[in-house]
This record gives sequence, C-alpha cells and structure tokens, in this order.
Amino acid sequence: MEGSILVINCGSSSLKVALFDDHLNKLASGLAERLGKDDAFATLEGRKESIELAAGAKHRDALNALVKVLQDSGLLDVEPAAIGHRVVHGGETFRQAALIKEDVLDAIKECASLAPLHNPVNMAGIEATTALFPDIPQVAVFDTAFHQTLPEKAFLYAVPLSLYKDWGVRRYGFHGTSHQFMVSEAARMLGKTPATTSIISAHLGNGCSITAIRDGNSVDTSMGLTPLEGLVMGTRSGDVDPGLFDFLANKGVPAREVHRLLNNESGLLGLSGQTNDMRSLCELADHGHEPSRTAIDVFCFRLARYIGAMMASLAHLDALVFTGGIGENSSLVRQKTLGHLVLFGFTIDKELNSHHGSISDGQIEGADSRFRVLVIPTNEELVIAREALASVRPGMVG
Ligand code: AMP
Repeated sequence: MEGSILVINCGSSSLKVALFDDHLNKLASGLAERLGKDDAFATLEGRKESIELAAGAKHRDALNALVKVLQDSGLLDVEPAAIGHRVVHGGETFRQAALIKEDVLDAIKECASLAPLHNPVNMAGIEATTALFPDIPQVAVFDTAFHQTLPEKAFLYAVPLSLYKDWGVRRYGFHGTSHQFMVSEAARMLGKTPATTSIISAHLGNGCSITAIRDGNSVDTSMGLTPLEGLVMGTRSGDVDPGLFDFLANKGVPAREVHRLLNNESGLLGLSGQTNDMRSLCELADHGHEPSRTAIDVFCFRLARYIGAMMASLAHLDALVFTGGIGENSSLVRQKTLGHLVLFGFTIDKELNSHHGSISDGQIEGADSRFRVLVIPTNEELVIAREALASVRPGMVG
C-alpha cells in the first residue's frame, strides 16, 4: 500500500504496531508481548495463529517478524511514507511532534533520566525501524507534549525552585495523545472546534490520568514528574503522602523498594490483593469479595475528587469525557464516580450508561444533568499516525 503510515508503540516488554493508509484508515494492527522472556509471542489482529518468536526475542526481533507478515500479506508491499513513534517523555524540549534527526534523538536520550523505564525502550523501537527502513522519515510523538501548555501554577511543585531550575523537577503530565484525541472528538460530537471546547478528560486504563482542557489546551492534569502521581491505577498508587518514604525508611524499607511497591504492587492490585484488572475486580466484588469492593470504591472516590479539582481550571465545561478500557467499558465506575458529584449538578442516565453511550452517540448524562457526560473510545495510534502524516505532508491533515 503506497503512502501508508506505520505506528510503533514500545512498552518495557511489549511492542504494538499499527498500519494506516494515507486517509488514516487503519489497515492492520499487531502486538508482541513478553519480549525478553522465553515465551515471547506476537499476534496480528484478525489472524488466528500467533507469529512465532524465538525465546528471549527483543523489540527488534518482534518488529522484524510483524513487518514481514505485513509485507507477505501485501499490506506493506512498498515502504511506508512515514513512521510515527510514541515517545513517553519529551521534557520541556518538545511541545509538539518532531521529525527524528540526530539532535532530536539526543534530546530524547537526555529526557531518559525523567523516564528511565520508558524512553530507552522507545529509543529501541526507533533504532529497530531505522534498521528496517533507513530512508523513511520518522516522527516522535510525545505523551508529554500536549501538556506543555500547563500554566506555571499547575506545573510547579511547592518545593525549592532550584529543584525545577537545576533538575527539571515539575509536573509534566502523560497520556497527552489520548487527551488531545478526546478534545478533538468531543468538539466534533458537540459541533464545536477544538479551540473553543473545554472538557475534563478522564483516561482510565491500566494507567489512569485526568486532564482539564480549556479552549483546546491542557491546563491541569493529574500525572506529574512521572506517571505515578494522581489517580488510583492498576498497580500504581497515585497520590500518597511523600512522608511515606521516610516512614517506611524508618521501618527498614529502602526508597528503591518503596518506589517499586508504589509502582508495581499498589493501586487496584494492592487494595484488592487479587488483581489489577477492573473487569475481574467487578466480578469478584459481585461475588462478595470485600477487598475488591473497597478497591473499586477508593478508585471511584479518588477519581471524583480529581474531577472536582479539575473544575478549578475551567471557566465553563462542555463535557466530562470517559475513555480508556475502564472509562469506556465500566458503567459501574462511571455511575459510582458521578454519584459523588451531585453537588456539582452531574447526573447520569442509567440506561444510556449501561450501553456505554453506544445507543446515544456517546452521551450518558441524565436529562437534568448540568453538564454533558460522554464516553469516547480512545485512539492513540490514530493521533500518532495523524501527527506523522502531518509532519511529512504538512497541510494534508486537518
Ligand atoms: P487499557 O489499559 O485502556 O487497555 O484498559 C485496561 C483496563 O480496562 C483493565 O483494568 C480492564 O479490566 C478494564 N476493562 C476492560 N473492559 C472492561 C469491562 N467491560 N468492565 C470493566 N473494566 C474493563
């Protein structure tokens, strides 16, 4: 397919690829998981059998295997027109997507100290596609870029200013591509332009963040220096008292271990003692498992508090938007969360909510709700493809 756009999203042990045509219709998508482990495997959407990967296969091996299948199937019979990469941390350097050249690579490497788990694997993806397609333009699309419009009052921590000036300690925010997509979709659904649309966007997946978007710009967000701050997540705690580090140090738990606990063993998993998966938690709670019920309660209450907090940044609100695996699929989470917000005038229509907005063009608010409430499926790959296409063919994408 001539003029196609290849999108690459590398996680620590996973790799997602998606292929779009030059009208941004998705042609194919694939996933490799458990990379670096003995049971690494890859799959292509719509294809029953998985793609064989050698034990210990790395990002590069998985990419080669997935691209070969795309080539053999005729979808990638000519080289793509551009390749878009998700890059987690762009620091303060990148306010928008960037065509990858030597200086951009150096800057991404520099940002790695802010995201040591993410940026190096994103670099691995860029290196793998460079080896396969050395002459094709590649574009880095940053999770942080959309939040570079945060005002100082929202991005500064109340710590000595030298920490910001010397080491870049500030709030950056993440999930920017998803929040950006939410405002463009909400604007389309409301018959407005993104530049005049103000929403609160709740991205609730395994990672969760919420963003206040005022007239198209991110003005406050729940994630901070790292993607640990803010909402309760699958295995991440979100906000805790920073005094916890010293408290646990006095109990003999070193900072590195506390960091691991907060990132990998907290959140829904930590509270329920069972799983980080919201769907499984809902089933467990249905069967009377109290810790799972508590985990869901804490998740929804924290989310509701943050929705309230996001109001402080807005002059008006066009819609509250739910997205991500939980936001799109859990009527229970949406209902419980909005149940805390009656004072603001939010109400929910039970019937529309139970259909996840699928019978009402995304709308789930009650007839008497002060604000619109929308469910919008996220599509981060599409945003990355759109940015990649815009970088190589300016003016082609609206
Ligand atoms: P994501 O990271 O966006 O893929 O979202 C993953 C999360 O969405 C997991 O916690 C899933 O359990 C959750 N999820 C997916 N489908 C459902 C569902 N039908 N009900 C509740 N949670 C769901």
